[in-house]
Amino acid sequence: MIPFSPPRVDQKTVDAVSETLLSGWITTGPKTKLFEKKLAEYIGAPRVIALNSATAGLELMLRWFGVKEGDEVIVPAYTYCATANVVEHCGAKVVFVDVNHDFNINISEVKKAITNRTKVIMPVDIGGMPINYDDLIRLVNEPEIKKLFNPENENQQKLGRIFINADSAHSIGAKYKGNYTGTQADAASFSFHAVKNLITAEGGGVALNLPEPFGNEEIYKFLNLYSLHGQSKDALAKTQVGGWKYDIVEAGFKCNMTDIQAAIGLVELERYDGDTLKKRRYVFDRYSEKLSAYDWAEVPVYETEEKVSSYHVYMLRIKPANEQLRDKIMEKIAEKQVAVNVHFQPVPNFTYYKNKGYNVMDYPQAFKNYEQEISLPVFYDLTDEQIDTVLNAVISSVEEVLAIHA
Ligand SMILES: *Cc1c(COP(=O)(O)O)cnc(C)c1O
Repeated sequence: MIPFSPPRVDQKTVDAVSETLLSGWITTGPKTKLFEKKLAEYIGAPRVIALNSATAGLELMLRWFGVKEGDEVIVPAYTYCATANVVEHCGAKVVFVDVNHDFNINISEVKKAITNRTKVIMPVDIGGMPINYDDLIRLVNEPEIKKLFNPENENQQKLGRIFINADSAHSIGAKYKGNYTGTQADAASFSFHAVKNLITAEGGGVALNLPEPFGNEEIYKFLNLYSLHGQSKDALAKTQVGGWKYDIVEAGFKCNMTDIQAAIGLVELERYDGDTLKKRRYVFDRYSEKLSAYDWAEVPVYETEEKVSSYHVYMLRIKPANEQLRDKIMEKIAEKQVAVNVHFQPVPNFTYYKNKGYNVMDYPQAFKNYEQEISLPVFYDLTDEQIDTVLNAVISSVEEVLAIHA
């Protein structure tokens, strides 16, 4: 079986973890601080905080902005559930909007969805392809839109407009107009989960990019406390002589990154652009070169004049497919021992959200994208021979199913 996206783990990873385990310090400490510093340098963001997931980052930022019951947060219908679930955790209302043919959030739909309760927009760089950041930033700064914004606390007053809390779970290393993602939105959460491009087993990080008069260092300090029970000293500071006494200044959460995770991340980051991304791009190119020749195939766009993807998910679409045909094609591919996936099932179509009254048919483009989509395996250790096996399995399965149903 060719797996879908096993993590990149080799002796270097194993050595880094062993060294950390034996170092005497395994939770948040020097490795985590170094990983944060290197991430900020790589991305070009003023500050990065490392956490145990992207989900935690998205939620902490919503809470930092004071999102609560009665507020609305705009989320694309086509994403992983995390983007919407964190809004639910805060007691606010998820306002789904439809996406474009290119899978990313539709900015004119965002504009239509804004009300005087809208506090945050959470765009998603789907598959690693950045959204149209300039259009979204222009929108939240439009005088009419700013006039609608109703600040209810100090941070909201200071920002004076809707907060852009980007879900960049897929897009570490992607570029928008020459800059890495994580430098456009006010805050951007990256995921280092086992299936993502850059792994720490589980993990995430928030790139902070808040404009003046905010201080990103100050926000970092707050998030550092907030991700560790609001405790005024972390575990490392408490080990210093006379350092036992601490205070609790917030009813904080517990979502810090450990040094074991950071050790993996440091190995990953060092070889990311020069090696990992190159390989992922190679796989994308090989898939597209071959599949572009077929009328039924719509290959993903992963490079334009303005954008370069992080090559996270190879999102193929089968143009003549509907949900049933797509599922049949996937069955046939699986029979040929190739693991494929669908990114994504639109969130309004899940039971929890359906029960709250959402209907996927209100987001027709998201549903159409979903019906035609099949994601192909992309990972560092994928061989040329395996790439050919995947291509043959996909092509023969599509042609079998389309011939039957022609
Ligand atoms: C993976 C993913 C997340 C969540 O990342 P975690 O690090 O697992 O919390 C959020 N959004 C999207 C679009 C994802 O694919």
